[in-house]
Amino acid sequence: LHWPANQVRSTFLQYFENQGHHVVSSSPVVPWNDRTLTYVNAGMNQFKPVFLGEVERPCSRATSSQKCVRVGGKHNDLADVGTDTYHHTFFEMMGSWSFGDYFKEEACAMAWRLLTEVYQLPPSCLYVTYFKGDEELGLEADLEVKHIWRGIGVPEERILPFGMKDNFWEMGMFGPCGPCTEIHFDRLCRHYAGERVNLGVEDLIELWNIVFIQFERLQDGSLRNLGTHFVDTGMGLERITAVLNNKSSNYDTDLFMPIFSAIQRMSGRAAYSGGFSSDNQCLDTAYRVLADHARMVTVCLADGMFPQECYNLNHIIKRSLSIGCKHFGFTRGHGGLGELAGVVAETLGQAYPELVTQLPRITTVLQHEEEAFYDTQKDVSRGWKDLVLERPELASVTCYHVPRSVEGIEDMLPHLHRWKEQGNTLPGAAAHKLYATYGFSTALISELAQVYGLVVDEEGLEAAMEEARQRAREGQVKAYYGMEVNKDGRLLQDLHASNIPLTDDSAKYLYN
Ligand code: ATP
Ligand code: MG
Ligand code: MG
Ligand code: MG
Repeated sequence: LHWPANQVRSTFLQYFENQGHHVVSSSPVVPWNDRTLTYVNAGMNQFKPVFLGEVERPCSRATSSQKCVRVGGKHNDLADVGTDTYHHTFFEMMGSWSFGDYFKEEACAMAWRLLTEVYQLPPSCLYVTYFKGDEELGLEADLEVKHIWRGIGVPEERILPFGMKDNFWEMGMFGPCGPCTEIHFDRLCRHYAGERVNLGVEDLIELWNIVFIQFERLQDGSLRNLGTHFVDTGMGLERITAVLNNKSSNYDTDLFMPIFSAIQRMSGRAAYSGGFSSDNQCLDTAYRVLADHARMVTVCLADGMFPQECYNLNHIIKRSLSIGCKHFGFTRGHGGLGELAGVVAETLGQAYPELVTQLPRITTVLQHEEEAFYDTQKDVSRGWKDLVLERPELASVTCYHVPRSVEGIEDMLPHLHRWKEQGNTLPGAAAHKLYATYGFSTALISELAQVYGLVVDEEGLEAAMEEARQRAREGQVKAYYGMEVNKDGRLLQDLHASNIPLTDDSAKYLYN
């Protein structure tokens, strides 16, 4: 490979450092300072309090390579993983920021120069987009940025307008947001004309998003003007690495190939062949999903997440184990996921040393999860079948996620009578117990409730989940940073990024 991923990453950081940007570490993927997120989904998350004016800016320009996970909330790419060439559950977002310093013109010029002069991508294969405005929200088209791209020399037919969905970036339901301009790469350099361009097709992929954060989305859906101009950019490392090496899939890079080799070695199956529509597609997809999930799981465990406390992570671990079992013949004591975590740590350890230092913890947790998985593989059908013999009404349950143990149902049966009397509701706390203690999926809980003529108290369930999430978060902060969360539940700034020169005021605010 001409461009190893480590070199692509260091080139990016060096480029921005040379232009006065402070290099900031990635925050953990656990968003312990933000109740609105389950996982960190963008490089800007750790700066949210800066955008909202809650803390003073730590520096005027920053750059980082951020560990991101997108398996829930506004940004959820789980369904695409393995089936397309460029969406992962875990990916690295290389970013640059201006906190009230330079604005649109410099931001576009810096990005363009990095891509075309440093990485040397042919300008004729690049497209840019701009925000075309939104009547409902009273937002105007960003013609300024269109003009800037023209000035940089991008031909008119490759500067395209898009609306809220593609060119107005928001981190979640609430929080900092603003119009953006994106740079896309045409892998075949086919020179599309105007509206024939279909963004998002595999050959034409989004590389870099440059957001001009100007608003905060409030709970009522309205936009509050922040009164300061910020630049917030993010480019996926896996995508630019594939493009620089002339590969049509992110999986054909040194971020994934070593994981495929390890799976092949461990399983003795045919090697990964990169198929998306060939005969090998099924095995290749299994390779891709397992490698993707191994990365996500390793990173989350290294950052102190516990599978028991996080439904998504738990689900991804179970899914990896069953793919390993089904497609690669992994068995109990085989090493499986734990061994793959070691390979992930090798590929990413240079950038994120915590993957290496936390490896013993990661493999211990995975061993435990593996044991539990193989135990329940054995028990599930037996326990469930026996229960159905005793309780024929349960035969109608169709949920794909059969419960890991029947204890949960035995636990709820004695209360049915009372719940029926109290308005046919399955109380939130009881539903949460099925979910958190017995590992029932929410779909299964709804089905069970239905079997017994009950309706799940969804609000109560959500409240119980939120409480559990908050407790888990506080536990993680304490375990990780050796300190308690502030009374209002927020630490207001990422302590992990302690290499940011904090002003006296913001430090006081933070550590109090
Ligand atoms: P897409 O439209 O391709 O889903 P996005 O618009 O959701 O991407 P942004 O939120 O703008 O992505 O994130 C900034 C950059 O991060 C993207 O331009 C892309 O390079 C990268 N990126 C986003 N999601 C993923 C993912 N799931 N896997 C790998 N890279 C990603
Ligand atoms: Mg997306
Ligand atoms: Mg997009
Ligand atoms: Mg985007």
